[in-house]
Amino acid sequence: MRTLVLASNNKKKVRELKTILKGMRLKVLSLDEAVAKPHRIVEDGLTFRANAAKKAVTVSRMCDCLVLADDSGLSVDALGGRPGIRSARFAGPGATDTRNNKKLLKLLDNKPPAECRRASFVCVIALARQGHLIGTVEGRCRGTIGFEGRGENGFGYDPLFTPRGRRQTFAEMPAALKHRISHRGRALAKAKRVILKYFSR
Ligand code: IMP
Repeated sequence: MRTLVLASNNKKKVRELKTILKGMRLKVLSLDEAVAKPHRIVEDGLTFRANAAKKAVTVSRMCDCLVLADDSGLSVDALGGRPGIRSARFAGPGATDTRNNKKLLKLLDNKPPAECRRASFVCVIALARQGHLIGTVEGRCRGTIGFEGRGENGFGYDPLFTPRGRRQTFAEMPAALKHRISHRGRALAKAKRVILKYFSR
């Protein structure tokens, strides 16, 4: 069976990616499963695209498989796009989801509802093989940031983010619905087409 390696050690993210990729008749491996001792990749790019491409290309030199890397984050309009590429580390060294969410709420403290709390989740997926970048695709999901966390599902900023046209936060909705409308779900739908084309060459 054809193998796809996910260039991530974020367990919750890997679980989401594996779920969305189910049914593609691919053997999907996490980084730990594919590479004995993967070395840490410094995400020093200035864009989601640069970071995703760097992760995919670097890991594709460690194993002889098609590699998929995603770089994603939350971009808040009133904060000029922050936390953006720094979403995972927003609260500084030792940042956790709880601390990141707390910091975001504090920064938006005096911001009125609706227009000032608009945000987008962004996900860029890069595919690479043997050190060569095959392609990148992007998915976005618009929504608003709430005044307090709601829901237990998902990860990261999910409890604070309500997608446009919905009442539930990402953390309140069933995983299958999040996957269908999320930035990652949308990027993966595009990535699936690139993967199928690649394997049918
Ligand atoms: P990455 O591993 O560098 O791509 O970091 C992505 C960070 O962005 C995560 O640690 C989360 O803080 C945030 N993030 C990305 N996608 C999601 C999502 O689907 N839900 C909630 N937070 C997300």
